[in-house]
Amino acid sequence: MTFEIRTIGIVGAGQMGNGIAHVAALSGYRVILSDIETSILERAIATISRNMDRQVKKGKLDEKGRAEALGRITTTTHLSGHSGTDLVVEAAVEKYEIKEEIFRQLDAVCPPETIFASNTSSISITKLAAGTSRPDRFIGMHFMNPVPVMALVEMIRGLDTSDEVFETVRGVAESMGKTPVACNDYPGFVSNRVLMPMINEAIYAVYEGVATPEAVDQIMKLGMNHPMGPLTLADFIGLDTCLYIMRVLHEGLGDPKYRPCPLLVKMVDAGKLGRKSGAGFYDYSGA
Ligand code: NAD
Repeated sequence: MTFEIRTIGIVGAGQMGNGIAHVAALSGYRVILSDIETSILERAIATISRNMDRQVKKGKLDEKGRAEALGRITTTTHLSGHSGTDLVVEAAVEKYEIKEEIFRQLDAVCPPETIFASNTSSISITKLAAGTSRPDRFIGMHFMNPVPVMALVEMIRGLDTSDEVFETVRGVAESMGKTPVACNDYPGFVSNRVLMPMINEAIYAVYEGVATPEAVDQIMKLGMNHPMGPLTLADFIGLDTCLYIMRVLHEGLGDPKYRPCPLLVKMVDAGKLGRKSGAGFYDYSGA
């Protein structure tokens, strides 16, 4: 048995939240997008609109489809705005305390049937679920960046996630044109348990003077056929998110091989978060 999903709430309108809103609206869902400030929501709608324009120019979307999809998205700065949704996908910053508080508030305003999903890159789905009254209706729905382009959704089962909820959310991911792949709830799941130590090691190579960021990226692109070097990718993901994930791996798995590189810590302390802050391993001030 699966549940019918018509309206999807998305909490957090940053790079992931606006991408999820984009694909959900294009797939015919009504979308309620929330964030803490109106200006962030305005920026998100402008980004979605620009990205849809690009799809129109490429002939992948027509004007009518674009207008209808944009018309399906409404925004709010209140979590209570999600009370009428069938599924809420949380895509706020990667901090346990913030996500825990968001789900606590959602749990109070949403009916018991509403399914909760988190787009967290690393935080325990079981632990987030345990803070709500519906651990059976809680799941990890981990989209990749940029959401409109990337095919994968990593589907993470918490300890109590029901089969019905798993199948329902798997169906939602498929209806968005994505390929869901299941895994269990352990630190970093699969994607970041494999990816982040590679990014962290690339940062160590710069920290220890083995090579410049440009050289590290070029070696991995040309030598390993990676479409993007690990430091370019780290800037793209956000260095704050990368640091948080390394800390989750370090704490959760208890192995010193996961310790975050001191250079990564220093860059985050300096506010150099990558593309989104205008600087990281590369400069984006002109972008
Ligand atoms: P981001 O910094 O671009 O956006 C986060 C948004 O959350 C911001 O707009 C912020 O204002 C908002 N926010 C903060 N506190 C909030 C609250 N209390 N209520 C509502 N909104 C709040 O970050 P992002 O890259 O979009 O990441 C979001 C989530 O997606 C994180 O959990 C991250 O780990 C995960 N994720 C990121 C990537 C990536 O490549 N960046 C990939 C997969 C998953």
